[in-house]
Amino acid sequence: MNSQEKRLFNFSAGPAVMPVPVLERIRDEILCLPGCGASVMEISHRSKQFIDIQHAARDRLIRLLKIPSTHEVLFLQGGARLQFSMIPMNLLRSRSEPAQYIVTGAWGKYALGEAKKEGPVELLYDGASHRYSQLPRWDELQVPDNASYLHYTSNETIQGIQFQADPVAKCPVVCDCSSDFLYRPLDVSKYGLIYACAQKNAGPAGVTVVIIRRDLLERSSDSLPGYLNYKHHADEDSMWNTPPTFAVYVLGLVMEWLETTVGGLEVMHRINQQKASIVYEAMDRHPQMYRGHARPIDRSLMNATFTLPNEKLESEFLAGAQRRSLDSLKGHRSVGGIRASIYNAMPIEGAAALAQWMDEFASTNPIA
Ligand SMILES: *Cc1c(COP(=O)(O)O)cnc(C)c1O
Repeated sequence: MNSQEKRLFNFSAGPAVMPVPVLERIRDEILCLPGCGASVMEISHRSKQFIDIQHAARDRLIRLLKIPSTHEVLFLQGGARLQFSMIPMNLLRSRSEPAQYIVTGAWGKYALGEAKKEGPVELLYDGASHRYSQLPRWDELQVPDNASYLHYTSNETIQGIQFQADPVAKCPVVCDCSSDFLYRPLDVSKYGLIYACAQKNAGPAGVTVVIIRRDLLERSSDSLPGYLNYKHHADEDSMWNTPPTFAVYVLGLVMEWLETTVGGLEVMHRINQQKASIVYEAMDRHPQMYRGHARPIDRSLMNATFTLPNEKLESEFLAGAQRRSLDSLKGHRSVGGIRASIYNAMPIEGAAALAQWMDEFASTNPIA
């Protein structure tokens, strides 16, 4: 394929790299969806064709994550940030049962800030003192059994730290999986609610997946604004209003790629481990040049963050990376340095090309 030759290795944190076969399929079907005579963008969300697309996307997701029948899958809009508000609006109970928040980085902090506007919430853990470079262990945290829910962020996209172990709590657990959704299998039965915007690991911006345990839907009050009520979306099969049809279609193609081309989430996990070790091993080979932000045991498989000794070296590193078609490696301003996002769709060759540049740069710039 010709256009692929011009594609860069895209390390963007989000919206992020997409699987090439998915992009090719969109190109092939953009004018005329097979059997439809029109583009997916031009048909009613109530048409059989679109309902089939949405159900196929949902069913593939259910198969990939082995989602139990106790849980409902919703396709919503407003990104992960709208969930920061919808979660407390729908799930908070009385004053005496505040929700508990574990803040391990920038996104957890934003989630807490929005939740505070809606009702009783408490900060159970805050990693600010070590600049969100490490995670607590679940057995260090004392989660009150009667909390309305416990909220945490499985992968902090900006800091590059990621929980490896499943959460432990008696109350419902709510997880922002936006930047590591579908990177490996997950035991959904351990969660009350899982949410992820699509544009990191699951598709294009515009659709957000919410997986909610059905009994929690009973908490949604009729007095909530209509769109913000989970129960409406569950009762109406995510068609309470017009869903983001194109984004749902693309998400379905990504699910199909994961299921049939990759071969499922166990395989995806092994590939992700392989890519992350290629990058982290390059970092660790040159400790004078590359200093990881994350404590090694908390390193993210999705976003590798590191700094160089000074800004001059960082900008030379980035300029040289660009000449090698390694794109969007600049770190978030709050952490600085370099951030390499190596989501599901980043090929192993991309991780290898980055590691090669890291080796070359370190050996041509000896640090005194
Ligand atoms: C990107 C991201 C968000 C924000 O998602 P939006 O769709 O922009 O609202 C929230 N949480 C995490 C962990 C993210 O990576």
